[in-house]
Amino acid sequence: LMDGQVADDHQITVCVRKRPISRKEVNRKEIDVISVPRKDMLIVHEPRNKVDLTKLLENHKFRFDYAFNDTCDNAMVYKYTAKPLVKTIFEGGMATCFAYGQTGSGKTHTMGGEFNGKVQDCKNGIYAMAAKDVFVTLNTPRYRSLNLVVSASFFEIYSGKVFDLLADKQKLRVLEDGKQQVQVVGLTEKVVDGVEDVLKLIQHGNAARTSGQTSANSNSSRSHAVFQIVLRPSGSTKIHGKFSFIDLAGNERGVDTSSSDRQTRMEGAEINKSLLALKECIRALGKQSAHLPFRVSKLTQVLRDSFIGEKSKTCMIAMISPGLSSCEHTLNTLRYADRVKEL
Ligand code: ADP
Ligand code: MG
Repeated sequence: LMDGQVADDHQITVCVRKRPISRKEVNRKEIDVISVPRKDMLIVHEPRNKVDLTKLLENHKFRFDYAFNDTCDNAMVYKYTAKPLVKTIFEGGMATCFAYGQTGSGKTHTMGGEFNGKVQDCKNGIYAMAAKDVFVTLNTPRYRSLNLVVSASFFEIYSGKVFDLLADKQKLRVLEDGKQQVQVVGLTEKVVDGVEDVLKLIQHGNAARTSGQTSANSNSSRSHAVFQIVLRPSGSTKIHGKFSFIDLAGNERGVDTSSSDRQTRMEGAEINKSLLALKECIRALGKQSAHLPFRVSKLTQVLRDSFIGEKSKTCMIAMISPGLSSCEHTLNTLRYADRVKEL
């Protein structure tokens, strides 16, 4: 398969990525129940009988545009998901890339960059690889004459509220004008002159996102992170193209609406609502449908203009953990991704 092929044929690309089983999981005798027999197929081998695993397996087969096995690295995933969409924003369109899945399945690793112990190296994350290609494309003969200015923003949506990751997590308001244009009021949008500038912003935003949280009760698993690269003609406020990258809240949080803690229950309901609305909005991508549930959640509201344009393109990477103990969440993730696919 060739570079760029995906974006030309599809408005929506849906992929799945299996992360490797970790040393910790091996130590606690976790079993890998996922196989990737082909580049576009993934199978969940669900034991029906937890006592004898060899005898009763129910095999759930799923097909996607790509299925990335646990040997694939971020560069490979990037190449077949977000990379073909870089061209879209130069052609005056909107591009969006979602990382969906259970907490611990590899969303932040894929989008924000690999972890080296506790330090996240953002250079090999999808945000940074896309930013690099944006500057490469900006300087090609075909697009140089457009005189585009590149800027970037990074924010988090937590419990239906927006926080600026480039400004001490300042809480921001979302306004909609009469023409249904949505604006995040006061959002920091930094002009960037090269990939080094963007790397600094990503590093800053990544750190802000995880500051003050413990792994046991992680805020980042309950928030959506949105990183955006915006192109504007020099001297203009009008947007030429925009690439949004979303590290979604853990989808298991939406299921967990039975908690005894009121706050947790409300957050779960909010996450559930936003992920359901997202599915509907992606499925209707590029169609002029007035009754789409944009307003139902902050997430879909702030991404509104990315769904409605004729030139809009989206890719979703469904992340899955390989272990037997994640089987139920994995099946939920795969069924959701299956519903997002173009028919
Ligand atoms: P999420 O953001 O979905 O909750 P993370 O990205 O934080 O998940 O990943 C959970 C753990 O698994 C992290 O320690 C991360 O380094 C590791 N991990 C995730 N994906 C991979 C991968 N493809 N290869 C190696 N380690 C990974
Ligand atoms: Mg994460």
